[in-house]
Parts: sequence; structure tokens; C-alpha cells
Amino acid sequence: MAVLHEVRVGVRPLEQFSPVVPKRHMREALKTALRARNRLAKRVVWNVNSTAVGGGVAEMLPSLCAYARSIGIDTRWLVIEGNPEFFRVTKRIHHALHGSAGDGSPLDEGAREIYEATLRRNATELVEMVREGDVVLLHDPQTAGLSQPLLNAGAHVVWRCHVGIDEPNEEAQRGWEFLRPYLEPVPRFVFSRQAYVPTFCDHGKAVVIQPSIDVFSPKNQELPEKAIHTILVHTGLVDGPPPDDADHGFLRDDGSPGRVGRRAEVVRLGRPPAWETPLVVQISRWDPLKDMKGVMLGFAKLCESECPVRAELVLAGPNVKGVTDDPEGADVFEEVVATWRTLPDAIRGRIHLASLPTDDVQENAAIVNALQRHAAIVVQKSLREGFGLTVTEAMWKGRPVVASGIGGIQDQIEHGKSGLLLKDPHDLDAFEADLCELLCDAEKLERMGTAARKRAQENFLGLDHLLKYSALLKEITETEEGNASR
Ligand code: UDP
Repeated sequence: MAVLHEVRVGVRPLEQFSPVVPKRHMREALKTALRARNRLAKRVVWNVNSTAVGGGVAEMLPSLCAYARSIGIDTRWLVIEGNPEFFRVTKRIHHALHGSAGDGSPLDEGAREIYEATLRRNATELVEMVREGDVVLLHDPQTAGLSQPLLNAGAHVVWRCHVGIDEPNEEAQRGWEFLRPYLEPVPRFVFSRQAYVPTFCDHGKAVVIQPSIDVFSPKNQELPEKAIHTILVHTGLVDGPPPDDADHGFLRDDGSPGRVGRRAEVVRLGRPPAWETPLVVQISRWDPLKDMKGVMLGFAKLCESECPVRAELVLAGPNVKGVTDDPEGADVFEEVVATWRTLPDAIRGRIHLASLPTDDVQENAAIVNALQRHAAIVVQKSLREGFGLTVTEAMWKGRPVVASGIGGIQDQIEHGKSGLLLKDPHDLDAFEADLCELLCDAEKLERMGTAARKRAQENFLGLDHLLKYSALLKEITETEEGNASR
């Protein structure tokens, strides 16, 4: 039985970027694309990761692959298969690279056996598909152990790491030691920040490429206010009725019409928030490092404070029943619900814990889009964050963001201009004060939102991401040509 799953990717013309980037930039990009196509002719560029749904990598691959395909580069996306034990180990490594102990289990020979057994099965199929000279981009710790069989097959292997910690600690060291045997033979690496590069991956082998968002996807496409309103009423995230000429539609990735039909499962005390109620929103996986619980406790402080604006909080994440590569989700969600139950009714009534339907990824994205656009303030109070696409998404939508000043979030928000950075993500008093300050100052909300949109537009769109990949692939193929002519 096949263990690898190929995710179908569409085709998207690069010219789609014309309305959102300067003309000169677009012309240069098209020229670069042609050169990249010629260089990569007859090769396949493979992306391999561990999930087709949920998380930052699955978010970026569909559009990046689709643009590459439109210029004639045969780009494909494969998802490996693993059992719950494998994903427990890889989640443990993921936490370690973020400097945290996760479930505290040992990263010992037993863990290595589990890790390697799963990857051996995947590698057997993978090397049947990959040809000599192909480029394989392996994403994140789950796939690092595939490197050697691919190198043996003559592929160019790049390992891309989407996580990291600014100041590596003992845990991070443990995670890197686990991965080291698989990474040492890899010739090229991509990291989201220079600070994340471990010394053994450095020595000119690593480049920094920041993630990007797909501004035309159901997650980020423009939505008229009526559609936002209707989608949120329809999913149960805002109280009804929806506006008269109801429209809960969005455009699917292939250009066909989509419609939000499923409801979110929401833990709450009373009714959904009214449309007019200002919302503070954090959307994340149910992961301890996203600190949903801390956001809730900080918001509880806001409710107890003298803040004159009566906001409500929505914590939203994927329905934990639908995410296979994240075994912790259910526990984290349960813990958030248990803590919510301990809060006084007056506070609980202002906090909504939403599990968003994941059966249809694009519908899920449209709901996230509507919720981010409707938020008065978007929060990302993570304790660790590789980059933080939710921050970019909110900035693109002109929302002011209050987020932890850590990891890649620092590269996105300029404190005080395009959002607010929390010096210490554990400081709930500072968090509450930031929320109140923004909620009470409509002019500041507006100004920060506008600056945020501009910053996202200038720095974090897919076109720049593709150009950076193109430069990396150019180097790789030139090295090959250099070696061949020697
Ligand atoms: N996301 C989503 N549905 C959800 C929760 C999250 O589509 O219910 C998306 C979110 O919009 C973002 C991605 O998952 O695009 C999370 O990426 P990020 O870099 O913020 O964090 P990661 O999950 O990769 O640690």
C-alpha cells in the first residue's frame, strides 16, 4: 500500500501579482522566471512534508507550487505517512528546536528507531519516483531522515527548517543532535532567520528565506463586508441574522465559487458576539507554544480592568479531531476549556473557544479570513514562533496585531508602527494594557492597520519568496554544471 500521498497542485500565472507589486518588479520577476524554467527543464522539483492541511508549510506550498508549474517547472508536493508514535517523536523534536521539552520524552535510540522505521518506508517509495538531478526540498524535522536515500539516488537535497529559537538552549541542542546524522550530508539548507541556523548547518550552506502569504487564496483574498458578516453568522461566530442580501461566498483556488456551509463548534456560555462587538482574536493550532491559555488569562485581566471598551475574545483553531500530525492538539484544547470553566461567568461569557471545521481546507481558510478581517485586534501571543504566518495574514488585512516580540514575529512588526510587540510574552499585565490602549484609540488602530498592510505588501508576498528560491536553485544547478565540467 502506498505510503506517500501526492497533493494535487494547480496552476497559477505569475502575472496575478501585477496589481499588488510595482511594474518594474513584475517585469524583472518574469525574466527571472523564464531563466529558471530553462535551467530546471527536465527536472522535477519535489516538496516533501508531513501534512497537507494545517500549519505554515501546508499553507504556503499550494500557491508556490502552482506559480512554479505555471512557468513550466514541474513542481510536485508529496506528504509522508507516519503512525501516531512517529508524530509523537517528531512533535518532541519540533518542541526541542523551539527550546522546549514538549512531552519530556527522551530523544534516545528508541525514538530514533521509531523515526527511522517510518521514514524508511517512505524513502523506499520516494526513491522510486525521484530521478538523478531532481531537486528535493525536505520540510521540517519530520522529513530530515529522508536525506541520505535521496542523496544516494543522485537528487539535490535541500532541507528547509521552518522553526527555530533565537538563543539555543539545552533542549534545542538535544533536538539538533537528534537530527544531525541526517543533516550533515545535506548540501543546502533554508532557514527563516539567521539566528536559527545551527553551526553544523552553517559554513555557507544555509540561506535565509522568509515565509510568505498567498494573497489571492481563500485565506487572504479580499472579502466584501457583507460576505465577512454572513460567513461569521453562518459559522456561529457572530450573532445573526446575516445581512439581507446574504452572500457567504468566496473564490476557490481554481477560480470556482465556494460557499461556507459548515459551522464551527464553539464552547461558550451565552450567545455569539454581536456584529458590533469589537473582537480580540487569536487563530492558531492548539499547541502549548501558541499559549491560547495565556491569551485567555490576559483577556480575563482586561475584563476585570477599568477598560471602557467591552471587547470579546475568540480563540480559534482547527477542530482537533481533524489534524493528524499534531497529537497534542486535543490535550491542549481540553486544558483551555478546563481553564475557561474556572473563570467567573461574567468573564466566561465574553470568551468563545472555536473549533473550526477542517473537512474542506478552503472553506476553513475562508472562515479564518473572515474572522481575521472582522477582528478589532489580532493577537499572536506565542511563547515561541518560527515566523508566524498568522501575523502576516492579519497585517495584510490591515489589522493591528499585538504579538510576542520573539522569533520571526520581530522581523514582521515594527513595534509601535505596524503593531505592538510584547517584550515578555508571559507578562499578562503588559498584554492587557496593550489591548486596552488599542481598543480605546480608534485613530491608532487605523494608523497601525494601514502601516501593517503596507509592510506585508512590501515584504511578505509569494513573488519575492519565489525569486529567492529561484536564486537558490540557480546556485545548486550551477554547482552541478561546475562539477560536471571539471
Ligand atoms: N490556520 C488555519 N486554520 C486554523 C488555524 C490556523 O488555516 O484553524 C492557519 C493560519 O491561518 C496560518 C497557519 O495555519 O496560515 C499557521 O501558521 P503559523 O506560521 O502562524 O504557525 P505554525 O502552525 O506553522 O506554527
